[in-house]
Amino acid sequence: MSSNENIKTVLAGATILQQGEDGDSAYIIESGTVEILIEKDMGLVQSLGTRGKGNIIGEMSLVDNKPRTATIKAVEDCELLEITRNDFNRRVENADPVIQMVMQVILARYRDMITRAHILRRSGDIPAPEDMEKGFIQQANAVENIKFANELKEAINKGHLELYYQPIIDLQNNHIAGFESLIRWKHPEKGMIPPDLFIPIAEESGLIVEISRQVVAKSCEALRRIEDQKKSTAPLFISVNFSAKDFTTSGFRENLQNVIENNGLESSQLHIEITERLLMDQPSNARDTLEDCRKIGIPISIDDFGTGYSSLSYLHYFPIDILKIDRSFIIHMEHDESARELVKSIVALGHNMKMSIVAEGIEDENQARMLKEMGVDKAQGFHFARPMPEPDLIAFLQEYKPIV
Ligand code: C2E
Ligand code: CA
Ligand code: CA
Repeated sequence: MSSNENIKTVLAGATILQQGEDGDSAYIIESGTVEILIEKDMGLVQSLGTRGKGNIIGEMSLVDNKPRTATIKAVEDCELLEITRNDFNRRVENADPVIQMVMQVILARYRDMITRAHILRRSGDIPAPEDMEKGFIQQANAVENIKFANELKEAINKGHLELYYQPIIDLQNNHIAGFESLIRWKHPEKGMIPPDLFIPIAEESGLIVEISRQVVAKSCEALRRIEDQKKSTAPLFISVNFSAKDFTTSGFRENLQNVIENNGLESSQLHIEITERLLMDQPSNARDTLEDCRKIGIPISIDDFGTGYSSLSYLHYFPIDILKIDRSFIIHMEHDESARELVKSIVALGHNMKMSIVAEGIEDENQARMLKEMGVDKAQGFHFARPMPEPDLIAFLQEYKPIV
């Protein structure tokens, strides 16, 4: 759409924004002059002055869903460029991650200021200390997150993010079937930072998209090298974790396809891992993209299965090939009859729907044996192997003897 389609012409004397009404747009004045008016009690109107070409009006509604705080009238014929909230939000989403973080801080401060002004006005007193504190903590966190996101951006550019690989074992023959790719941040001063600490910041700042692109590329390159050095002939797979934002980027499937082809792999050798929560947050976007990936033969795996949602109807809605039973069920399985029954039910449900079942977090032989008896297809956990860097994995593969 050209910007001209968003230009509105308003005649002299017309009301552009009305105090007290809801608003979804801001306007940039392209030509003409407007007057800002505040309506007070008993019909009194106070003028706050005029604005001309190049000024923005009504911008508060873009950041806040509150009613307009002033009335704005055209003093002469005006041309206004409309910015809708949808357009604004889309631009923010596509902005540089650091700019997004700066905006979040400014917004947090702005909202805090408005809240305080509101409290002051209502009580005629100073704001309650806990309200002040909450606002300051929010600000401090937002600032910390920006610093952290900046460091993370540097880490991405300097190659300080590393991948570890954890073997996934086929329980029916005890052979290694593939690996899960797990990211680590090797921080020069803070040491190894686990993904649970930085993935949420990466998701919030949008850096996750670049991280995922690197992870998938590095994972497939590693699988190529591993395939070239291993003894057995059966092809291995690599399972990569993705986040909600990955599915909103264009060319997601094309990128996976290129990476697979460039490394001479089959589509079935790259697995997409996503959590139940991601599917619930992004149903339409995720579904189309997943369908696309599945059409070219990439299997889809649901991570942390059983922890997110009580409704199982989504299992029909999304194209799913693999269910990964969360570690929490495995921990309780040995001593808790109901956890055991739950695992059995998940296996039956998954198999009925032609899905393969992987159990996560197996730490001892007893768990492995129970899961095998229940018909679980594959297993992953410290009992078999911890996540490890590529050279250790290659050595592990060369020395591996199936546990019987
Ligand atoms: P996840 O996808 O559920 O990965 C499994 C986690 O369980 C890994 O933690 C793994 O080291 C750990 N684990 C495996 N076996 C056992 C076991 O027997 N006992 C116990 N106690 N833990 C076990 P890690 O590597 O710290 O990763 C944590 C989470 O970070 C992952 O959970 C995943 O959600 C996320 N993550 C890791 N790498 C990536 C990535 O490249 N992209 C995205 N978006 N998320 C990632
Ligand atoms: Ca996972
Ligand atoms: Ca998991």
